[in-house]
Amino acid sequence: MRFNRKTILSVVSCILLVCTLFSCLTFNATSATLDELQTQLNQLEKEQAQISSKINSIKNDKNKQIEYKNALLSQINNTRAQIDAYTNSIALVDGKISDTDTRIAAKDKELAQLKNEFKARIRSICMNGGDSTNALLSVLLSAEDFADILTVAEYTKNLASYDAKVMEDIAAAVKAIQSEQANLQSERNTLATYQAKLASKKSDLDSQLATANQLIVSLGQQESQLNSDYADLEREAKKVEEAIRLASINQNNGTFDGSFYWPLPGKKADYRLTSPIQAARPHPVYGTIRAHTGNDYAKAGINGLPIYAAASGTVSIATYNAGGFGYYVMINHGAINGSTYSTLYAHMTRYVVSKGQTVKKGDVIGYVGSSGAATGPHLHLEVRINGSPVNPDPYFN
Ligand SMILES: [Zn+2]
Repeated sequence: MRFNRKTILSVVSCILLVCTLFSCLTFNATSATLDELQTQLNQLEKEQAQISSKINSIKNDKNKQIEYKNALLSQINNTRAQIDAYTNSIALVDGKISDTDTRIAAKDKELAQLKNEFKARIRSICMNGGDSTNALLSVLLSAEDFADILTVAEYTKNLASYDAKVMEDIAAAVKAIQSEQANLQSERNTLATYQAKLASKKSDLDSQLATANQLIVSLGQQESQLNSDYADLEREAKKVEEAIRLASINQNNGTFDGSFYWPLPGKKADYRLTSPIQAARPHPVYGTIRAHTGNDYAKAGINGLPIYAAASGTVSIATYNAGGFGYYVMINHGAINGSTYSTLYAHMTRYVVSKGQTVKKGDVIGYVGSSGAATGPHLHLEVRINGSPVNPDPYFN
């Protein structure tokens, strides 16, 4: 059975009264502090677990972003190489276009010169100037005989037809070069279009990269903030643990005779040691993890079996810890040769004692269960000397 609020209040009032009478307020104050400390420790452990899971999720996000960023980088490098290739191709075509310009200019010059020469020849033939037909007529009329006239006419006609042929050839050559140039220009336009597309793609990739970089920086900041919060909690939890240890030492009011009683029905040999006490190992990332501070005992049908006080003493903790011990009880047995002994019983279905209560060896204090962080019903049993957990096994032989 559990004590209701009224019963607890009246018990607490009684203890307060008795303690005031016997001037032993120190014990009560320590006991209250111990409970508060334990609650504080539970809270810290819970927060720490939440932060740890947040850190893992942020790390995961950050790694994904880094992977994404690397993919973007290789895409950007590839696009940049393609843009460079197009730049080279365009430069090559530009060179060819410039070459056609030179060739066209040369042909134009040749044509202009030919035209000038032709004009000069005609001018020399038409010595008298004026209308070219009249000029030609005067050449013909000044000829000495008809044979001469024919010769001059033939010469003039041949000359004109020769010049016309040459000039036509040059014009055709210019046309061919111009058509070549038009092809080159069209090729250049195609290349420039592709290059512009790539430049736009690269600009998109650059902006995605900038976003990814920002996210990575922000996740990194969150991660380091959480790591620092985690470390703060770790330091705080250590302080509280030490305070609990010191509080346990100060409770020297028991009548411990030095021997422990096996706290479950039957013999210790009837039970399996499912998980032994283990010292804290350095955590691969955060430095330390909590140690396993006692031995776990189990057997078939253990659930609901009574748990007995291993020795007489005063209940120093009877509380619930969701993240760890579940319903658990700690009994202070007092000191032998200056060392204070305590026992702790965790993962109960329920406890039937309350803080400050005096218990005798063999009294039922609670029942076996799997409350708190437990995978199945078992008894987590601790022996503490001056607050520090020791291997409980040798004390129960
Ligand atoms: Zn355990």
